[in-house]
Amino acid sequence: MNVSSVDCEVAIVGAGPYGLSAAAHLRNIGVEAHVFGEPMQFWSTGMPEGMLLRSPRPASTIADPHRDFTLEAYETASGTAPVKRVAGKTFVDYGKWFQQQIGTPLDQRSVGEVQREGSRFRLTLSDGLPVTARRVIVAAGIGPFRKNPEVFSELCSCRASHCYDGRPLKGLGKRVAVVGAGQSALECAALLHELGVDVEVIARIPALRWIGMHPRLHNLGPLSNALYSKHDIGPAGISRLVAYPHLMSHLPLKPRDRIRTRAVRSAGAPWLIPRLQNVRVSTGRHVVSATEIGGEVELRLDDGTERRVDHVLLGTGYRVDIAKYEFLSRDLIREVRQLDGYPIVGRGLCASAPGLHFTGAPAARSFGPLLYFVTGTDFASREITSWFRHNRG
Ligand SMILES: Cc1cc2nc3c(=O)[nH]c(=O)nc-3n(C[C@H](O)[C@H](O)[C@H](O)COP(=O)(O)OP(=O)(O)OC[C@H]3O[C@@H](n4cnc5c(N)ncnc54)[C@H](O)[C@@H]3O)c2cc1C
Repeated sequence: MNVSSVDCEVAIVGAGPYGLSAAAHLRNIGVEAHVFGEPMQFWSTGMPEGMLLRSPRPASTIADPHRDFTLEAYETASGTAPVKRVAGKTFVDYGKWFQQQIGTPLDQRSVGEVQREGSRFRLTLSDGLPVTARRVIVAAGIGPFRKNPEVFSELCSCRASHCYDGRPLKGLGKRVAVVGAGQSALECAALLHELGVDVEVIARIPALRWIGMHPRLHNLGPLSNALYSKHDIGPAGISRLVAYPHLMSHLPLKPRDRIRTRAVRSAGAPWLIPRLQNVRVSTGRHVVSATEIGGEVELRLDDGTERRVDHVLLGTGYRVDIAKYEFLSRDLIREVRQLDGYPIVGRGLCASAPGLHFTGAPAARSFGPLLYFVTGTDFASREITSWFRHNRG
């Protein structure tokens, strides 16, 4: 549904897991929210084809208030056989189905600009149509936050791309260097290898790390429950803390940051180990120069060795910086108190700019790493609705 000249109570920018979940929860308490954006656009265009979700099934459900629209409910409704590891494509279809179930107005146009206009916000849609809203929930994800290390800046996009660009892996060339050691780097390396590409992983860390390499700790009954939460984010103990975002928000910044970075440090899912067995991996190394020479890329590493490849795939992750949300007017950005690019958010995920909320990854500096993942939609949406219940004028 496209809206024409709308004046809405709440505008949600972004129709990914966080935006859709917030919309479902707000509707449940009678708050009329309009969602803007193509449903699951980042997941359908920004993820590598053939990827599997890293998160376990119980942590891969988009939250709705009555748990009517779980991943399992989608599988039942669509006749999709449940599998242990959910495919990215299944998750996209699930998100689109979720959107159809919740009955919230959705406008597929993107938001070109959000600016303050008196006590309201004025949103300009991609076709120039203005919309006004009393409150805006930014649920725009991590797409603009890709980290592109400076050393690759001279390479054209046909020779270097980021894993989140969603470029088809098939067309990258016969020899590809994958830079990074996180899930997206390692999964892309495995997928490229399976396509017959000559791949090398180049990573700074001294050895690749794998998530959940202490299976015994997961099988100790009640003790395991004390060590790990169902979200399965981070190692024993930290996993438990991460499950309490309010507690996280009350920790002093230093330990909160330490827990956050430890919980999401670069690592791959253990099911990638056999898939990477025959892939060359250079750890403890980094690229010091990257030059395009005669249709190839010459990489020089810090140990003085060189590589010639057709393409460099950057699995270098992302860094939150809300200034990269180009749709937020610069005046509005200046109103938001920030910490290294993260908005500081409090109750209701409210930023210091009145009427503005940030959900998903930008809220993770304040409430912890749960908000980097789909499983954080439950906390985030309840937090937002709780605020509306108590503060709606
Ligand atoms: C390769 C990869 C693998 C991942 N695997 C997992 C996993 O297995 N499990 C997990 O929990 N998490 C995973 N994540 C993290 C994942 O990104 C988040 O969990 C999830 O997408 C967060 O949802 P979101 O709604 O905040 O963001 P998104 O899913 O990015 O949705 C935000 C949406 O907003 C839209 N948008 C942005 N700007 C505008 C605008 N101006 N107007 C309209 N719409 C706009 C975007 O197009 C996008 O579709 C993975 C991430 C990557 C990159």
